[in-house]
Amino acid sequence: MTGSPPRHITVLGSTGSIGRNALDVVRRTPGAYVVDALAANANVDLLAAQIREFSPRAVAVHDRGAAAKLREMMPGLDVLEGQKGLAEVAARPVDTVLCAVVGAAGLPPLLAAIDAGNRIALANKEPLVMAGQLVMARAEKRGVDILPVDSEHSAIFQCLGGRSAAGVRCILLTASGGPFYGRTREELRGITPEQAARHPRWRMGAKISVDSATLMNKGLEIIEAMHLFGVPHDRIGVVIHPESVVHGLVEFADGNILAQMGVTDMRAPIAYALAYPGRAAEPVERLDLARLGSLTFAAPDTEAFPCLELARGAARSGAGAPAVLNGANEQAVAAFCAGRIPFLAIGDVVAGALERESGLPGGTLAEILDADRRARAAADEIITRLEGCR
Ligand code: MG
Repeated sequence: MTGSPPRHITVLGSTGSIGRNALDVVRRTPGAYVVDALAANANVDLLAAQIREFSPRAVAVHDRGAAAKLREMMPGLDVLEGQKGLAEVAARPVDTVLCAVVGAAGLPPLLAAIDAGNRIALANKEPLVMAGQLVMARAEKRGVDILPVDSEHSAIFQCLGGRSAAGVRCILLTASGGPFYGRTREELRGITPEQAARHPRWRMGAKISVDSATLMNKGLEIIEAMHLFGVPHDRIGVVIHPESVVHGLVEFADGNILAQMGVTDMRAPIAYALAYPGRAAEPVERLDLARLGSLTFAAPDTEAFPCLELARGAARSGAGAPAVLNGANEQAVAAFCAGRIPFLAIGDVVAGALERESGLPGGTLAEILDADRRARAAADEIITRLEGCR
């Protein structure tokens, strides 16, 4: 992008894995970007370091206690706080808002950024899972581009080359299989949060690492892809690909298939979304195919990893079901990480919540937020009951 003026960007979730990688892309391409605003949940030590390095014009901290701490650390700095603060920085006019908040908490700032007419680089998949139709309709009405940062969706977006999904027979999302690929359901008993967080290919935050271990991440990605590309769920397949070199494929009606490949480094899809439609200069190492030698593919084991099918079921039900799936999963993952329920119970909690609440409507934002709330309440009840049984 030499010669063009710097792009102004806002990073929501700057202290998380995606946020840190994004700021590294900024660091590696001097003159290409100006960081207009940063927002984080609670890690104010890292946020303070980022503020010193990138001098943003606005800062928001979700956690109120952490916001107070940051004000103490950096007197004179205007710190916005809470959900309102995040929405306020998201609505500042910039070239691109990178949405990298974890979970459903990212929905309000995403909507604020869209309403303000800001282009979106979207890493935070949960808002699309919960409220995909609403988010995409608002973006279209406002003429806002949503550029996927999730590596598989960046791959599909690149394969489609900016065209619509007309003429597409199916989309294939690759999955590394997570840290427990090849294990039977029996062999998944007793998995600890530490083991689940150790992903073989990608270094990521806790929530997405656990989602990858259960394959729920791939289920969420099916729903994410439905909305991003306007393709029904039964034309979105999943293939296990442990090397994580091919990130996604598009099969067209005439039998031609396009695939996107790259190293397992989130800076590549981040740099693509930030520089779009241009290309950034070498944000990552190059792929050495000869050194890799071979690539392997396999069908997913839906018995050992039932979350994938739970997500498909929610996609099929539509309406409020995907929001229920997502809300219950967030509660179950948090309970697993806190040592309250075993690994295999994550799927049980989500299945139980879906059984109870999957018929809820999901047309309006109020209905979606209600489905999310009720899913979390149902999940909490099941978690408490499971705890009592141990
Ligand atoms: Mg992904």
